[in-house]
Amino acid sequence: MVEKDDKQRKKATGEDGLVYERPREEIEVLPGVRRYQFISKSQHRMLTKHLNRIAMVIIALTLAFVIFKSVFIGTGYSVYCLEDRSCMRVLSQPEGENCPEYIYPVEMVVASRTADYERFIRQGGLRCIQCGNCTKWCILEINIPEIAARMQELSLEALDEGKISAELVLEHGFIDPQTREPLTPEAARARYSREGYDKVARLYEQMTAIIAEREEVQVAER
Ligand code: SF4
Repeated sequence: MVEKDDKQRKKATGEDGLVYERPREEIEVLPGVRRYQFISKSQHRMLTKHLNRIAMVIIALTLAFVIFKSVFIGTGYSVYCLEDRSCMRVLSQPEGENCPEYIYPVEMVVASRTADYERFIRQGGLRCIQCGNCTKWCILEINIPEIAARMQELSLEALDEGKISAELVLEHGFIDPQTREPLTPEAARARYSREGYDKVARLYEQMTAIIAEREEVQVAER
């Protein structure tokens, strides 16, 4: 039926002397950059209407889960993020107006939607000093420091409950932003004693205390 309609359309346009062009295979977002539209293109839909409906219900439920989860854990504003990466412009600003820890803010925000601790920590979320420099570049003015602060609280609780590993925190959470190497305790204390770093310093002390206590318990159990 679809083929027949398609042929009729081609024939009609031919009689009018117009050239019928097939739709482009994919949309060009920027010159040379193309994005595949898996959901919106008809040839990528399911084989039957019922399968298509089931797929749409699954997509709707997944979206609802992400929205409810972020609202429930206190990072609800993260669902507004368009992931357009305009906040990344903070990285190319002069010192004092840039991100002092070279964090990709968009990655922190996306991780906070579903409390993805691993992604949040690997992207430097624990080191966010909540200066707000990145928020100036967000076209929706999402309060990125507030989201980061809430995720830091949740990460601390998750570490205490054993949901995240000590290795993840020590190897990826508190690193030197230039070398990407983990900071020694002395280097961490020196770096986080600087002005503006009081929240990160407190978080570092709380997390390392939890890890030290856990290791003492493990040694005692042996
Ligand atoms: S609020 Fe956090 S992520 Fe944003 S610029 Fe400041 S330190 Fe970087």
